[in-house]
Amino acid sequence: MADEKQYDIVVVGGGPGGLTAGMYGARANMKTVVVERYQPGGQIANTAEVEDYPGFEHIAGAELAMKMADHARKFGLEVVSDEVVEIRSEGESRKVAVGAGGTTYVGKAMVVCTGGSPVLLHVPGEKEFAGKGVSYCAICDGAFFRGQVIAVVGGGDAAVEEAMFLTKFGSKVIVIHRRDRLRAQKVIQQRAFANPKLVFIWDSVVEKVNGDAKVRSLTLKNVKTGEHSTLEVGAVFVFIGFHPNTAMLPKEVAKNDRGYVITDFKMETSVPGIFACGDVRDQLVRQITNAVGDGTTAAMAAVYRIEKIGG
Ligand code: NAP
Repeated sequence: MADEKQYDIVVVGGGPGGLTAGMYGARANMKTVVVERYQPGGQIANTAEVEDYPGFEHIAGAELAMKMADHARKFGLEVVSDEVVEIRSEGESRKVAVGAGGTTYVGKAMVVCTGGSPVLLHVPGEKEFAGKGVSYCAICDGAFFRGQVIAVVGGGDAAVEEAMFLTKFGSKVIVIHRRDRLRAQKVIQQRAFANPKLVFIWDSVVEKVNGDAKVRSLTLKNVKTGEHSTLEVGAVFVFIGFHPNTAMLPKEVAKNDRGYVITDFKMETSVPGIFACGDVRDQLVRQITNAVGDGTTAAMAAVYRIEKIGG
């Protein structure tokens, strides 16, 4: 018989939102588990430096994640490593998360903090050279390209911040953006324009990633002139957005037109007893602070639901 484990609150996803939800659940004396497929921390585990989390002027993302997990465990939170492949709502107060290995985590309430995944370029060569010069994580892979020319695709906060981080390693970092102005916040743009190792190629898209055993060049197209060119690079880092990880959710959970989970002010989804927090919800800004706030609300709303407090 498949392994079934009983909890009060099951949190799916161990990023800042999930760890916070787990902490508040455990602190409210609920038997609480966070089920995380990789290591706790989610995206911040791969973020070089965090400088906008109150109380920490500078902290490595992985260190902040570790601190959050340790802190939550002190209140009795259990953190397990498993990939949730299916979430079900079975009646009023039986929510089930099915792990890839067959374990089911049963809770009276569930908090889904599954975040999202990077958007891919979907051009020839991208898949073929993934891990051989095509990357979506500067902190993971930047150091492999010391002294080389590094390309970054995108014009949002992520692209520009990661490009700046990559200047630690690259002889030059070239940001390729499809328009003639950045989407990134002004304060981030100012820092980027002042960085002598950062160069911008405007109005251009990557049409192909070329190489042999590794990436050697990119075929670019200028979207205004239609001209093609070849840019020699040692690596290309893609930061063109993000999509929410919702595949494991029951179809009854309502989503908006961009696929993000819709919640009310309690972070409760359209399925009673299933809450959502962090990047899996649509956010104006996807910051650690948002996720942490959502996690607090979701956990406490779950506690109130279980204890039948409030409406
Ligand atoms: P984003 O803000 O959606 O930016 C995506 C960028 O990629 C845009 O510049 C977009 O171009 C470009 N793009 C999209 N599809 C493309 C394609 N197929 N080919 C080429 N370029 C493409 O995404 P993000 O930078 O990942 O940021 C997401 C959220 O996280 C934002 O809310 C952001 O504020 C937040 N964030 C904040 C920080 C921070 O404050 N420190 C750091 C990272 C992320 P267009 O501009 O033309 O649309």
